[in-house]
Amino acid sequence: MNGIEGNRSIETANILETVNILGTPVHRLTMAGAIQEIERRIKSGGRHQIVTANPEILYSAHHDPSIRQLLSEASLVTADGIGVVWAASILGKPVAERVTGIDLMADLLARAAKQGWPCFFYGGKPGRKEASPEEERSVAEEAARRLCDRFPGLQIAGTAHGYISASEQAALHLQIDAAKPRLLFVGLGAPRQEQWIRDFFRATTLNDIVAIGIGGSLDVFSGRVQRAPQWCQQWHLEWLYRLVKEPARWKRQLNLPRFVWAVLRQGKR
Ligand code: UDP
Repeated sequence: MNGIEGNRSIETANILETVNILGTPVHRLTMAGAIQEIERRIKSGGRHQIVTANPEILYSAHHDPSIRQLLSEASLVTADGIGVVWAASILGKPVAERVTGIDLMADLLARAAKQGWPCFFYGGKPGRKEASPEEERSVAEEAARRLCDRFPGLQIAGTAHGYISASEQAALHLQIDAAKPRLLFVGLGAPRQEQWIRDFFRATTLNDIVAIGIGGSLDVFSGRVQRAPQWCQQWHLEWLYRLVKEPARWKRQLNLPRFVWAVLRQGKR
């Protein structure tokens, strides 16, 4: 069974409500609902790609048919960020809350530890040789170490850093195939991670796997990057915190007002 057939079998059994945002159907799920849907997919088998869609990727999909197609073929697309929650309500089909990659990952890892689902982490910076023992580990290795402490029983089937060359991709595919993870977390940034998962699903022999793009979550779980403080998250200012910490993001964030404008125009139609 390939990934798309796997997704179809789920969708005919259980039709989920979506809101069309700039041409991409986004599932109207709470965090608890998303977890339940993912758990069902893990148990039912097949290959499933989960996308946590932020305004930037939805805006890219609006202009780029290949990204739009990729998102429309995903098994689940959640509303990642207050901008997407806002867009859904402007378009008359609200979603209850945001479902971000990092929160989804933490919740899934807690379940994976209990259920014995092996996990694989791909992405983030490599370790630095001749650095402190902690920095010798890659971001993915350090995140795995800390997460195993946080979730006793968690099985890490393998890790790989996110800066390998194209010629090393075949070896990475073999490494993941041999590790047989049930949950594959890919942190390469969007939309690169979504494109990578699509290509991996076309090539892999694995049939029982859920893969999810998680952006910079491994950086946070490894302790090398701080997540925005709780008050920033509550006031929906996480984007501003990241902009202050990583000013180079300003170019990407120019797409936020463009996203707002495009949604307002869609709402008027
Ligand atoms: N990254 C990677 N390989 C690359 C480019 C980026 O592993 O070739 C990692 C990077 O180290 C970081 C993550 O991808 O951990 C991107 O994080 P970001 O927060 O920018 O993700 P986004 O906001 O796009 O979801």
